[in-house]
Amino acid sequence: VTDVKGMINQICHDARALSGEKGHEFTVNISERHLLRGDESQLRSAFSNLIFNAVKYTPAGGQITVTWNTDREGAHLSVKDTGIGIDPVHIPRLTERFYRADPSRHKETGGTGLGLAIVKHVLLNHDGKLDIRSRIGDGSEFICHFPRERLAEQLPETAS
Ligand code: ATP
Ligand code: MG
Repeated sequence: VTDVKGMINQICHDARALSGEKGHEFTVNISERHLLRGDESQLRSAFSNLIFNAVKYTPAGGQITVTWNTDREGAHLSVKDTGIGIDPVHIPRLTERFYRADPSRHKETGGTGLGLAIVKHVLLNHDGKLDIRSRIGDGSEFICHFPRERLAEQLPETAS
């Protein structure tokens, strides 16, 4: 069982540092239920990839909103930015390994195109799925959905 609250706060703390001079405005919302049955290091790498992408693909002064919420369906992590956005033709292929959308391919923004392939893989391992919503110039939202069976009530007691 992973407590995603501390994890998300930690990643956003690191992301603020990464944002540096771009000075993005970060908003983090985390709901009451934040224990997920899953592998901590895998989940951390998935969530970091999404949050670091938001920093990377959002120009100075943009907003980044990270929201963890739960409902009858399960748990949802949304990473929303006001960045460059993605042309809809690219969206179906974004989670392929090494795939990078225009203009990232040509731009000086470094990257190998593996981040979202990792996210997809981690979600697959956790019965989750990824939703991508984006409009060129308006920004993007990446949402990870986890089924309710993945939510836990409490951390397992430490062996004594
Ligand atoms: P890596 O993550 O391996 O360093 P990368 O960021 O290019 O490289 P992915 O994270 O897999 O690779 O993302 C694939 C492509 O999706 C990116 O190259 C970029 O074109 C697009 N993309 C991902 N996240 C965003 C975002 N938040 N806003 C706009 N475009 C994005
Ligand atoms: Mg990336």
